Amino acid sequence: MTSLEGLPGFDRAAFEKVHAGGAQVTSIRVNSAKRVPGAGLGVVAEGLRRVPWSSFGYYLPKRPSFTFDPLFHAGAYYVQEASSMFLEQALRQTTDLSRPLRVLDLCAAPGGKSTLLQSLLSSDSLLVSNEVIRNRVHILEENMTKWGGANSFITSNDPKDFGRLENYFDVIVVDAPCSGSGLFRREPEAVKEWSPDNVRLCHQRQQRILADCWPSLRNDGVVIYSTCSYSRAENEDILDWIVEDLAAESCRLEVSPDWGMAETAGRSGAYGYRFYPDKLDGEGLFIAALRKKGGGAYVASRKKGMLDRPSKKDEERISSWVRPEMPMAYFHHQDLIYGLPAGLAAELPVVQSCCYLKRAGVPLGQLSVKELIPEHDLALSTLISPKLPALSLSREQALQYLRKDEMGSDYANRGWTLVQYGGLNLGWIKVLPGRINNYYPKEWRILRREP
Ligand code: SAM
Repeated sequence: MTSLEGLPGFDRAAFEKVHAGGAQVTSIRVNSAKRVPGAGLGVVAEGLRRVPWSSFGYYLPKRPSFTFDPLFHAGAYYVQEASSMFLEQALRQTTDLSRPLRVLDLCAAPGGKSTLLQSLLSSDSLLVSNEVIRNRVHILEENMTKWGGANSFITSNDPKDFGRLENYFDVIVVDAPCSGSGLFRREPEAVKEWSPDNVRLCHQRQQRILADCWPSLRNDGVVIYSTCSYSRAENEDILDWIVEDLAAESCRLEVSPDWGMAETAGRSGAYGYRFYPDKLDGEGLFIAALRKKGGGAYVASRKKGMLDRPSKKDEERISSWVRPEMPMAYFHHQDLIYGLPAGLAAELPVVQSCCYLKRAGVPLGQLSVKELIPEHDLALSTLISPKLPALSLSREQALQYLRKDEMGSDYANRGWTLVQYGGLNLGWIKVLPGRINNYYPKEWRILRREP
């Protein structure tokens, strides 16, 4: 705490009081690609208040049980701490979002920043969401699947692997692993793990992560750096190092005085933004944007022809499941057919040449002689055709589906059918004579009963 004295916006008494108070702030960010006109937000609809720096964020008057809100499982919103939503300002104020961009979210799990980026980027932009820790990739995949965008790749690589994609990205988001002091209010357990030695280790790791990915940022490209730490060593000192050793210019952001974050500057004059929970409704955060000076423009690679395309006839079979207005590139990977916005097909072999690609675009399904066996990802994707048979469920039936329980069988349609709640898809069922098979993914099912 003593090390924070003198930092802009730090008020020891107020800071201690808010940490002792134990109040919890809950906020969600709605998925603009899944808004159903006229539909509310289910269990979280009452008493919403806007997060002032976000186009999509709302505070909730109390924390509901999200598990028992079917819309949560449909990807209608993401439960995100409000300070983190400021990424939107850092991106909008530094980058022209109307043109196609290549964006890397380098430290992406569980996907809070990636889902926000997906809401902000144009549909012909590419988002590469990367998580180096293998056992954290599945939660990133799950959240990205629920969000439903098709223009993303998920990778699991060490930051240094991206260094080989020279000048490729227009924006790199580094939401760095840190000592976590900004989350002490929400996670009191984290206090025990904090130590000056750990701050030092985090500082070194943050430098290494930035240095490793730096070659892949193009000249004039933007890096958005954030931590949930209050330590100067992980924040202002890192900005100074970026400016001095990596050659970048700081971007000053416009921040309304009503929002409550404090502008700070390191020795180099690089601007950063500090979020203290006693000054605003959100947890501790530090964020800054810097523009690279140096490097070059990306020279398109000649790598091509690595997509294993289905036959014309198979493409026709698949295309009836997908929105017709979207020009798509289809490809096989192992047993599955994937769909990718056509403009991104050329990016796949480029990224694949350096990275371990967990997924590119949307897995659509498996083609058998008789039919397409659809993937769950297709049901949740914004690519899906609105003309497919669908069954609207009550909240009780939706929870039954999400628990993967048996479903009633009095439904006239036969075959693959979408189940919906509040106008949004939850997944697939297959209606057979006298029986309904529930295809909700086993590993995602709700295990508890509603209290
Ligand atoms: N951006 C995420 C979000 O908004 O949901 C949160 C990211 S969290 C602050 C930092 C992430 O960095 C963790 O998922 C962690 O696994 C990952 N990480 C840990 N060590 C790393 C390293 N050496 N290089 C890159 N990422 C690392």
